[in-house]
Amino acid sequence: MHAAKHWKPLNDGAVQCRLCAHSCIIRSEDKGLCGVRHNKGGELLTATYDCIAAANLDPVEKKPLYHVLPGSTTFSFGTMGCNFSCAFCQNHTLSAPPRLGRPVQGQPVTPAILVEEALRLNARSISYTYSEPTIFYELMADTATCAIDNGLMNIMVSNGFQSTECLDALNGLIHACNIDLKAFTESFYHEHCGAQLKPVLRNLKHIVRMGWWLEVTTLLIPEANDSDAELRDMACFIRDELGKDVPWHISRFHPTYMMTDRPPTPLERLERAWEIGKQCGLSHVYLGNVHGHFSEHTACPSCGNVVIRRTGYRAILKGAPVCKACGTSIPGIWSFPA
Ligand code: SF4
Repeated sequence: MHAAKHWKPLNDGAVQCRLCAHSCIIRSEDKGLCGVRHNKGGELLTATYDCIAAANLDPVEKKPLYHVLPGSTTFSFGTMGCNFSCAFCQNHTLSAPPRLGRPVQGQPVTPAILVEEALRLNARSISYTYSEPTIFYELMADTATCAIDNGLMNIMVSNGFQSTECLDALNGLIHACNIDLKAFTESFYHEHCGAQLKPVLRNLKHIVRMGWWLEVTTLLIPEANDSDAELRDMACFIRDELGKDVPWHISRFHPTYMMTDRPPTPLERLERAWEIGKQCGLSHVYLGNVHGHFSEHTACPSCGNVVIRRTGYRAILKGAPVCKACGTSIPGIWSFPA
């Protein structure tokens, strides 16, 4: 157990955790909703500072980030635990156990060990991912500080449910992120994730204001979040509130965990979502989990010429990310340090 940050004491030994938008009030000897933050005698402690449950060297395209150092690898890790309870979670063996009262398990680490490993593997960046990095905030922040000292970029892959206080504390540490926009209705977030939409929308706008590179992902689930009207609402929100150049990844759903009552997303629905994104004026819309599809390349938004070619998670960018046909520059992070 390690001292937690971003909380305040209340009366009778209770504390309020201020790390995410749940703002849990935790009585003495109890845990927050995520199951990893414990009130021990009026002090908030975290069980996710010194052990990780998964680590891999991944292509950065797998996060997915398509406009960040294409073709590079990112050292990715995550701990157990999550502040959401998504019925369709693809990583439920990592995310769910602490919430269900089981212990946080994993391999012992320190921030310095994680950065050493990233350097040894020749990664260009570290990604805080797999479960929900907000609930291992202290490990993420200390590792990110050490990573910057060693010339590495920091990437956060998140459900976007942080408190504003938490996001502000990460400003200057995180360079790029992929944030889920799981749907555009409060009822979806409430019924399927045990959370709310409003804080996610607020945070997406805040991230743009802070200047982090942002890409957005939506898992398209049949009969849940795939109506034309909802897709149009999401695309218009991205265009109007985040910017038309923010890439939107629309991923194919596969039945898993507690959502096995429906089929994988049909290709036609994914292509319809892609079309809606483009009709709404988004410059870059990508389909995920559909390898070999034309949308996996980065095309020039002005003339349609392919600027970055991808095959699965392999990306080929020759020279600068500028359209050779019309000279349009593609936004993103193409070198680091800049
Ligand atoms: S991180 Fe969120 S879910 Fe976990 S204790 Fe804090 S406020 Fe609650």
